[in-house]
Amino acid sequence: MFGDAVVTSAGDQYRIQVSPGHDADEVDHHAADEIGPTGRPYREVPEPRPLDRHGPATVIAVCNQKGGVGKTTSTINLGAALAEYGRRVLLVDLDPQGALSAGLGVPHHELEQTVYNLLVPPQVATDEVLMRTRVEGLDLLPSNIDLSAAEIQLVTEVGREQSLGRALHPVLDRYDVVLIDCQPSLGLLTVNALACSDTVLIPMECEYFSLRGLALLTDTINKVRDRLNPRLDLGGILVTMFDARTLHSREVMARVVEVFGEAVYDTVISRTVRFPETSVAGEPITSWAPRSAGAKAYRALAREVIARNLKGA
Ligand code: ADP
Ligand code: MG
Repeated sequence: MFGDAVVTSAGDQYRIQVSPGHDADEVDHHAADEIGPTGRPYREVPEPRPLDRHGPATVIAVCNQKGGVGKTTSTINLGAALAEYGRRVLLVDLDPQGALSAGLGVPHHELEQTVYNLLVPPQVATDEVLMRTRVEGLDLLPSNIDLSAAEIQLVTEVGREQSLGRALHPVLDRYDVVLIDCQPSLGLLTVNALACSDTVLIPMECEYFSLRGLALLTDTINKVRDRLNPRLDLGGILVTMFDARTLHSREVMARVVEVFGEAVYDTVISRTVRFPETSVAGEPITSWAPRSAGAKAYRALAREVIARNLKGA
């Protein structure tokens, strides 16, 4: 039923005035009838209200079994933008590559205790692994290559799909949001993330629309919901690496919106060299280039996520 589709039909309904790739201060005042990159009108989400108390956290798995689609970039920058809005945020690096930890300037290769030690016996306390980052309100459970052994070691454990959930449980009350950066696979680590999440955020590179890939992912989400975690829902699809200058990008976007409708976030992340730069700098774009279009986009996404996905709003 599903096949890989590169779309050929395009709509002319776009009126896009930003030029991604040029980063400086692009237009961010939209007229009331302005059409956004999704083809829908811009819907400005207002600034979130400050919270007078924190927790319990909404857990969001950032998930796509394809690599290089912007999972890690989105986890860091959405997390940092949520922290700017006064939310207490915990980021979980669930990829043995440790790109999330590296992207926050953590020398992960040198760490003795990582997420691995939370999952595999003899487990350590979550607080022994938890660390602060340079961004206020943004904490991290780091990982390194040790985690690559966890999948095999967990196979013989009872309740192996719930290992991450058990580790996160003691700290959930301290945070408003937990974002889990998944590895590019649908293996046991990703199932652990889905089993303890409230919602899934799927970043999708606006290059090539693989309906088959997304169908595999939504199948996995449905299975986890049926068998392990009835509260799991699809939070939304985030289109990344959008380039308004190319017809191809606009065509892929039109197709994604046609298939997934309102599940697609209004916020779209444009392609810009600023993101690779931030990984080298080891900090989020919101502090590295606070006025850049990329920082503004992740703030807009944070407002959407707060309004749409967070329990306590
Ligand atoms: P994933 O975690 O899904 O593998 P990453 O977030 O690591 O993907 O992104 C893959 C590469 O693309 C990284 O080098 C990152 O800096 C870069 N990247 C991510 N988002 C963008 C973007 N919007 N524009 C340009 N490059 C991006
Ligand atoms: Mg990654």
